[in-house]
Amino acid sequence: MATRRYDHIFFDLDHTLWDFDANSRETLQDLYLELDLEGRGIPTFDRFHDIYYHYNLLFWDRFRKGYINRDELRWKRMWRTLTDFRITDEGLAKAMSERYLEILPTKKRLFDDTLEVLDYLTGKGYPMHLITNGFEQTQHAKIRNSGIAHYFTHVITSEAAGIMKPHREIFTFAMTKADTTPERCIMIGDTLDADIIGARDAGIDTIYFNPAVPPRDGIIPTYIIDRLSGLRKLL
Ligand SMILES: [Mg+2]
Repeated sequence: MATRRYDHIFFDLDHTLWDFDANSRETLQDLYLELDLEGRGIPTFDRFHDIYYHYNLLFWDRFRKGYINRDELRWKRMWRTLTDFRITDEGLAKAMSERYLEILPTKKRLFDDTLEVLDYLTGKGYPMHLITNGFEQTQHAKIRNSGIAHYFTHVITSEAAGIMKPHREIFTFAMTKADTTPERCIMIGDTLDADIIGARDAGIDTIYFNPAVPPRDGIIPTYIIDRLSGLRKLL
């Protein structure tokens, strides 16, 4: 009988299982209507979405580097988006931030094949866990509302671990919780820097899932898949 290569599977959540971009877009659409952003001077939703997307990445980068705190990240990305439309209204930015965080985790879109693949892996008896950069309350709500909570034994958020991917400590923290060792687990994620380099540096094999972004030179995931169903051949 063939022995199984891995005993534990770690998944990333956002952009790997939970379709963050689709869910975020729907949330921003809700905000655009609910807060009458058109009436306040933002002519089209698409324009609003593109500008928000840009500042969100920028402020996340600042947050990751420790230049701003969580609350600043949350409302300043809205505030800066508004100022591009010549709207200077801190109260509105804070209201948008609050509603965005309330609505986003209620969205349910998962990538194609997510449930089918999680069922397949459950059937094979793998204990599965999540390692996600994000806030405790938000990430747990996403998992619950999209109906995938029951697949995972441990959900490790960067907020609970006190450190973000790609730092080795969050992977060590996760392995301690799951009572496993690097050679017995594999990490599946969409982000080269956070998921693939992070896990690799912690001694964990990796599966890269992000058809839109090919691996850069010098970053070699153990495996690459272009659909989640590709996991059926590997695990
Ligand atoms: Mg991700």
